[in-house]
Amino acid sequence: MKIILLGAPGCGKGTQAVKIQNKFGIKHVSSGDLFRAAISSGTPIGNLAKEYMNKGQLVPDNVTIELVKNTLQAKIEDGSLENGFMLDGFPRTLDQAKELQKFMDIDLVLYFEISNDKVLERIAKRKFCSKCKENYVAGDDFTTCTKCGGKIVRRDDDDPEVAKKRLEVYEKQTFPLIEYYKELGILKTINADQPQEKVEQDINVLLGEV
Ligand SMILES: [Zn+2]
Repeated sequence: MKIILLGAPGCGKGTQAVKIQNKFGIKHVSSGDLFRAAISSGTPIGNLAKEYMNKGQLVPDNVTIELVKNTLQAKIEDGSLENGFMLDGFPRTLDQAKELQKFMDIDLVLYFEISNDKVLERIAKRKFCSKCKENYVAGDDFTTCTKCGGKIVRRDDDDPEVAKKRLEVYEKQTFPLIEYYKELGILKTINADQPQEKVEQDINVLLGEV
């Protein structure tokens, strides 16, 4: 099954993706994974993307699209996505979505809908170990990591004001994508305001139906 995951930062899709992968064998493929794979294997498109990144520039849409298509295709051909995949972090723009759709039929788009208040509340609590990247929430009350002793910090862009801006940008960018997939009839909306277990149940029902 070919799935796209959509949802604002902090909506919990990463957590759910791990659960789906474990349960259904559908691979979680983030755009970051695809970039890393293309760059480390030194493909022409990977090298091109790397040039932009090294200069601190944004990788243009057409390069990103080619990179995702090529790397995804390579993974499909080598059999590592035999039970399907969940794309995360791509597409981000309507152009990217349309190009992807020309390249392959997506079966399902899981949209994790979450209220702004809930996202900001979650982000405000989010912390992680600066050394081993283990996640913590503010309520955990640790200052050093229980696994490695590293310092527990908050990401710079998790600052509430920064997070709010990021959310606004995200919404503006994502709205056309949601409309597009709705029109194609493959969008399924998940209420991500709910507790994690309930979200998981809803997803299981959805995936059972498809
Ligand atoms: Zn740690």
